[in-house]
Amino acid sequence: MPFSDFVGNPETIHRMREMLARNRFPHAVILSGAQGSGKYTLALMLARAMNCLEQPSSFEGGTLPDFCGRCSNCTRIAQSADLDARFAEAVEARENLRDTDKKETRLFVQTHPDVLIIPPDPPQLMIKVDQVRHVIETIYYRPGEARERVYIFTSSSFMKEAANSLLKVLEEPPDFATIFLLTENAGEFLPTIRSRSMIFNLGALPTAEIESRLAKLRPDWNPRQSALVARLSDGAIGRALSFDIEGYIAARSHALVLLKSALGGKDSDHTELFKTTETYRAGAEGREKIGNLLRTFYSLLEDLMFLQSGTPQLVRNTDILGELKKMSEATDFAWLQRASDGLGEVERGLRRNLLRSLSLDAFATALERAS
Ligand SMILES: [Zn+2]
Repeated sequence: MPFSDFVGNPETIHRMREMLARNRFPHAVILSGAQGSGKYTLALMLARAMNCLEQPSSFEGGTLPDFCGRCSNCTRIAQSADLDARFAEAVEARENLRDTDKKETRLFVQTHPDVLIIPPDPPQLMIKVDQVRHVIETIYYRPGEARERVYIFTSSSFMKEAANSLLKVLEEPPDFATIFLLTENAGEFLPTIRSRSMIFNLGALPTAEIESRLAKLRPDWNPRQSALVARLSDGAIGRALSFDIEGYIAARSHALVLLKSALGGKDSDHTELFKTTETYRAGAEGREKIGNLLRTFYSLLEDLMFLQSGTPQLVRNTDILGELKKMSEATDFAWLQRASDGLGEVERGLRRNLLRSLSLDAFATALERAS
């Protein structure tokens, strides 16, 4: 999987590869971009390009370093690509330790001796000081099988002490090491960390580009589905590729029941509403289900806002545009505002553990009384 497989942000990738070619790649890099924009994928590609034994190059307005994907360094680094799976294995391995060891064991993903992935440590899901200490303990040793030691921090949620320790490494990094700091927002890092790193941003891709990529990469989706997913993924190709379209449509059909029931006024038949809300139960599964429902509900309200404000080109649920237009005629800004506030209340109620179905019913009927 060479650089040509990376989707989007060609100028940024080009610039980074030019730095590699000139041996001017910075020792600390902040890669910022939305969830699913490809930060981790890119960091692993760069780690392979730095350490590939074949050292191939490709011609793109100049000869640029690439990686073969087949040598022992490339293949071992690539084993870290499925971060969720490797992370789950690391968590499980720690769970199986004796209690005393468990407390002292910090979480890492490592499939190559010179490339270390540092994920946020559960249950707090923060980077902890002991994780950074381990980086400090190893970073000053020359790499054994690679040319460059690579460290990838996959989150910018650092405990305070951990951030301060990281700063110490960034003040004096060895020549043969590169640290990647991945974040959705570079502003989350201390200014002193930012000033010692070079910041690269992976911007959102145009909807049309995601749509055309999906046509090739997700042939199981029909054009209508690809168009919908492209609009819902906020320009992040990773999010688009892993989008749960069935789950989304299911949650949205429930949101539509609630919405229609609320818009139907006092005379509307509530049978379908109650049948729907009854399926929302307590427990972790119910929590996730209602989370999806609320998210899709927000996206529908947003689309109705776009229609109200005369910007139908911004509507994301394009596959039900006709239905949305009809609903839009029955609403106004004030109602949409109330609905949005009402949703916020349901969310707060859920945090207080109110019965799920009850707060959903209350939400739908409150909107109706107001209409
Ligand atoms: Zn290789």
